Amino acid sequence: MHLDPHAAAPLTALEGIGAKTAGRFRSLGVKSIQDLLFLLPRAYEDRTALKSISELVPGRVSVVRGEVFSLGEKGFRRSKVLEVLLTDGRGLLVLKWFHYGKWLKENLERRFPPGTDVLASGKVAFFAGKPEMHHPEVAPAQNWDDFGIIPLYPLAEGLGQRLVRKAVSSALERCRKSLKEWIPAKVLGDWNLPDLETSVAALHGPPPDQDIEALNEGQTPWHDRMRFGELLAFQLGLLLRKRDLSLQRSRPVPYTASLADEFISGLPFQLSGSQKRALDEIGRDMERETPMHRLLQGDVGSGKTVVAYIAMLRAAAAGRQGILMAPTEVLARQHYRTFLEWSEKTGIKVGFFTGNMGKNPRQELRERTERGDVSLIVGTHALIQEDVLFKDLALAVVDEQHRFGVLQRMALKEKGECPHFLVMTATPIPRSLAMVLYGDLDISIIDELPAGRKPVKTILFEDSDRARMYLRVANEVRGGGQVFIVYPLIEESEKIESLAASAMAEKLRKNIFPNLEIGLLTGRVPSAEKEETMALFRSGKIQVLVATTVIEVGIDVPDASLMVIENAERFGLFQLHQLRGRVGRGQRESTCILMAGKNIGEDAIKRLRTLTATNSGFRIAEEDLRMRGPGDFLGVRQSGLPCFRFADPFRDGRLLGMAVDSARKIFSEPGGLSGGLRDKVADFWSTAFNVSGSG
Ligand code: ADP
Ligand code: MG
Repeated sequence: MHLDPHAAAPLTALEGIGAKTAGRFRSLGVKSIQDLLFLLPRAYEDRTALKSISELVPGRVSVVRGEVFSLGEKGFRRSKVLEVLLTDGRGLLVLKWFHYGKWLKENLERRFPPGTDVLASGKVAFFAGKPEMHHPEVAPAQNWDDFGIIPLYPLAEGLGQRLVRKAVSSALERCRKSLKEWIPAKVLGDWNLPDLETSVAALHGPPPDQDIEALNEGQTPWHDRMRFGELLAFQLGLLLRKRDLSLQRSRPVPYTASLADEFISGLPFQLSGSQKRALDEIGRDMERETPMHRLLQGDVGSGKTVVAYIAMLRAAAAGRQGILMAPTEVLARQHYRTFLEWSEKTGIKVGFFTGNMGKNPRQELRERTERGDVSLIVGTHALIQEDVLFKDLALAVVDEQHRFGVLQRMALKEKGECPHFLVMTATPIPRSLAMVLYGDLDISIIDELPAGRKPVKTILFEDSDRARMYLRVANEVRGGGQVFIVYPLIEESEKIESLAASAMAEKLRKNIFPNLEIGLLTGRVPSAEKEETMALFRSGKIQVLVATTVIEVGIDVPDASLMVIENAERFGLFQLHQLRGRVGRGQRESTCILMAGKNIGEDAIKRLRTLTATNSGFRIAEEDLRMRGPGDFLGVRQSGLPCFRFADPFRDGRLLGMAVDSARKIFSEPGGLSGGLRDKVADFWSTAFNVSGSG
């Protein structure tokens, strides 16, 4: 973007702002004058009406005019309080500071000696029937410049409201004109939105007759303009990406009868209707010359893996290669095992690639891959990190996609071969979220579970029911079933989590089930041992597997019929749903026991009841998203969500719809997305995704 030199100037270009203050602004992410203009108030205070002290209402932010009666400190040492008594002839108001430095006390003493006429503004509290304000703003009554609706800014250490307000008004004075509107006037007109300059100015200094509640709820046309702008830039960027993708060329994978069809008819089950539909959609994409870019979404256990395998088989049948990437080694290994089994019938060669394999096997696999000796390669993200070369990669599949995120997706695409691309996720994402995360993808949905699948019965036990839980475990094993006991992440530490799980395994072996085979699977178990433990569990030799969340995604053991989840309240709802999806895959009736931790609150219990009430991943995801917000729901760091400064696509659904609409219009007009507009979009994408040169 071409910045006006004034707006791009550092903050120190403003009068009264030195290096020190500029440093403090930096912790708010404000470096330039332009950043300061975009630092929007977090709330507004109504100082349009003076209140007399006798009218004050608790909890309300108010402004009072009065005379200083006295000023002094109360209490001793650490519990000292600075108090100013204010009177307006009819009542007495106590202003209190609990935390203050010497400078504040001296400042107040100097500027407001008894008898001074002042204005005080703050939230009113009542103590012993008397009104108080804590940490109010105080100013001499005669030069109360900021009377009206006053913006309150986010603050940082060493920055006070008055200082930020002053800085913003001088920035506005100086650079207001450099806020050039980049949204075409026609688009603004379509939605009746004010332009950028008007919006920024009004948000920093709303007119006195503006409805304060609308301001505080962010429901003004000015807020709308700022949010719409970001969403529009985002949507335009998506359209650009889509167009770039459609200009890419990849070799079609033509449909050859034989292999895939034979495999399908040899399966011990019938593909479900939605699996077939997804395969059709994928097949058609792969026959095109533009690379497929598709999301396959289906609830836990809906059978995405077999769909991926068949798609990859089509690549192999055409004499080309396919890769499947999984987010964890355990899951990658399981896919590998499944693929090996399936490939006994198809005769297709499968390779397995992880970050921690020995040097020689790795080198050998690399060479075979490059020669085209192996057709299907399964692995972890080591596959993209290392420079594995392919002879002829036709299809790349990524499992459990939201753990990867947009950036890795881009990295994979940049491997240069321009393969067809399929991402799979079990997270049923609401539409608004899907548009933001996957707006550049087409979507196939598997919306049914395989026939005959029995829903997992879920029960909630309190800690006092522990003995009953052990009884259930014993009964399950006696009946020929197998059991998972899962431990959550405690204190954000894999180490502690693993220790809790090991301690539990020990206790079960020694004290509770001395006659059962108990296995242990944590992130700290070496990978060879992990594999062995999984194999023993799968074969039924291990009856109870104590594990941390390493089993969370995708593990498939048909005879596992009971899952116990300890401290269930520490998991997200959707994560719990994914976990319980590990059981109920075979013929057995399956149960999931959620063990609530000690002394957890009503709310947590209520939240967990969502799971006992429904098996619908979609409903659970919605509930989870509603309660935790998209960042936590997706796992912020890995989520690949763009960072919006003003907009929140989940809150601003209406504006998002408007942006989609306008972006399509702009895009469809010849030359609609040119010059400044295009620069603006690139600029937005590079800051929002923190990458350069994409978009
Ligand atoms: P997910 O979608 O969670 O990745 P999987 O692909 O692991 O689910 O499939 C779960 C289980 O269901 C596997 O054992 C798989 O072989 C089996 N499966 C897949 N499709 C069907 C089907 N149409 N009918 C019966 N079982 C199926
Ligand atoms: Mg899976």
